[in-house]
Amino acid sequence: MKAWIYRLVCGGFLLTSGCQGMRHSMSVRNLPQTQKHLYYLLKDSLLQGGIKKWRSNPRIRLVGSYSSQEVLMVRQAIKTINQHLKEIHLQYAESPEAANVKIFFSSAHKYRDLLKRHPSLRSAVRSLPRQRGVCFLGTEQGVISQALIVVFDRQSAWAKREAVEHELMHMLGFSHVWRRDSILAEGEARSRRLSELDLAALRQFYTARFAQGMSQDELITALKAGP
Ligand SMILES: [Zn+2]
Repeated sequence: MKAWIYRLVCGGFLLTSGCQGMRHSMSVRNLPQTQKHLYYLLKDSLLQGGIKKWRSNPRIRLVGSYSSQEVLMVRQAIKTINQHLKEIHLQYAESPEAANVKIFFSSAHKYRDLLKRHPSLRSAVRSLPRQRGVCFLGTEQGVISQALIVVFDRQSAWAKREAVEHELMHMLGFSHVWRRDSILAEGEARSRRLSELDLAALRQFYTARFAQGMSQDELITALKAGP
């Protein structure tokens, strides 16, 4: 089996630079709200070698110890997201082997075991994250081909639902933002659900206008063309 590089996009000590070139700040500031939001959702990816996106349908499977309620929660999140995706659709994998996205409902203890078994994960995470969930992405030349999402078990149902929506957005190629009205806002003061701006970003990003590996200039040009 081909080994692939996991990259941690949520949940640890990942350092992301907040520094964006001054050259771009004016042109981004003048963009309409929805375009600006999409830009910021992609900014960390840009800084880490270019935009990343799926080219085929992600096939999702739950693993670990989860309840029927949690299956419903994941299916609901998939349904909501699919209503806003055009190029691809999230699918539920028929078998564990068919899955390229795993959502692991896990205790902190099992998560530590997982890290021990997978050296590539361990190198990405040195400590147990404080967050509700974790997302690792496997990418090749800007194409996301695998993901592992961890949702920790010792939290309320609403917190898990929020974690599922938040991590699924990372799985689709988006990074954290600083504005509060987004499921991907940093810290606790964030939208508890996918916001209208998040959904608008989903509708736009998975269209032919946005290609993996796009540079900052290309992205801004595409965003200026309008939603
Ligand atoms: Zn995150």
